[in-house]
Amino acid sequence: MSFVCFVVKIPTVPDIPKTMRAVVYRGVNDLRLETVPVPRIGPNELLVKVAVCGVCPTDIKKIQYGTVPPPRIFGHETAGVISKLGPGVSKRGWKIGDRVALHHHVPCLKCHFCRHHAFAQCETYKRTGITAGFEPAGGGYAEYVRVMPFVLPGVVKIPAKNFFAEGAMLEPVNTVLKAVRRLSLLRGDVVLVAGQGPIGLMFTRLLQLAGVQVIATDLFEPRLRLARKFGAKWTMLAQTGRAELPLRPDARQRVPTASLIHRATRGRGLDAAVIAVPSDAAVQQALQLIRCGGQVLLFAHTKRFAPEGGNQRSHFSLQPSAFSLDLASVCLDEKDLLGSYSSDFTLQDEVARLVFSRQLDVRQLISHRFPLERTAAAIRLASKPTEDSLKVLVCVDGD
Ligand SMILES: [Zn+2]
Ligand SMILES: [Zn+2]
Repeated sequence: MSFVCFVVKIPTVPDIPKTMRAVVYRGVNDLRLETVPVPRIGPNELLVKVAVCGVCPTDIKKIQYGTVPPPRIFGHETAGVISKLGPGVSKRGWKIGDRVALHHHVPCLKCHFCRHHAFAQCETYKRTGITAGFEPAGGGYAEYVRVMPFVLPGVVKIPAKNFFAEGAMLEPVNTVLKAVRRLSLLRGDVVLVAGQGPIGLMFTRLLQLAGVQVIATDLFEPRLRLARKFGAKWTMLAQTGRAELPLRPDARQRVPTASLIHRATRGRGLDAAVIAVPSDAAVQQALQLIRCGGQVLLFAHTKRFAPEGGNQRSHFSLQPSAFSLDLASVCLDEKDLLGSYSSDFTLQDEVARLVFSRQLDVRQLISHRFPLERTAAAIRLASKPTEDSLKVLVCVDGD
């Protein structure tokens, strides 16, 4: 007679310290590594030990322009391990030791905006539900975060085969998939993606998975090589200095941009263009390159113009854009100028499937990892991309 012995691993409750390290925003470009209390949690809340947190351009702007008052602890692309459960939360299926990815914004799904699928405009969505202390701001640049009840529906389990870093990328991938869904595309359509940073590369791959033929442009050749791996059919090197179109063709495609587009679209023009760089000139030129009835989608124009004395609460630029638009191109030519901002909660399962199955392999998008104490350096690098930099992560405890 033989016995088969199953060893069931019961997660042990880890010792939770009273204090932790956190990178606190104390003013414009002033980030300090400090010791702060570990957040306390209440009913229906989680305490998550942060493993990694992605560096996101929206936080960079807040830090560099001082658009929100200090002190705060930023970082919202967070993945980690559940280390404590508030009363009532185990009923929802969460256990200590679960590896999870977090969403700091979750819409109410009931209000007027939500019923119109405009989740980013929902009042509940605008509240930040994850904090490491002070005014809630994400908190991922700290050792522990408190997850509040209203963002619990946004917590996603990370499969055992996947890395924390992959979990931390769900939020940015979601924002890109939401934007792709705003485009009316058919299989075989030709779309230009201007900018092949981590976001542009996600666009390239998700469009390719949807059967779209992508023309990818960037200032840096290494990014174009990756764009080809991510499914771009054609790549073009943008003029150095400014991300503008039309672009100088790269070594593979020694034809002028206009004739490449002419050839690829049988003379019609692009079906759509995604502008993943904050260049007004790129938008202007893309509007000329799309066919009648086509779409230009803005994804990186997040700086708001605020005249002196005006509302400077949001990201602002003091110079109004020189952008001019022939309105007949909208009315007569039926060209649409669209924007997309933030994530779509209803796409969460699909995003998790795309990332965790590695159909969209986000591991290739991560170029640099910094320890928590070097968060300021991580933000400096992410704010000034170089030839070899893509997504930058802060690794607090794991990868
Ligand atoms: Zn983000
Ligand atoms: Zn709502």
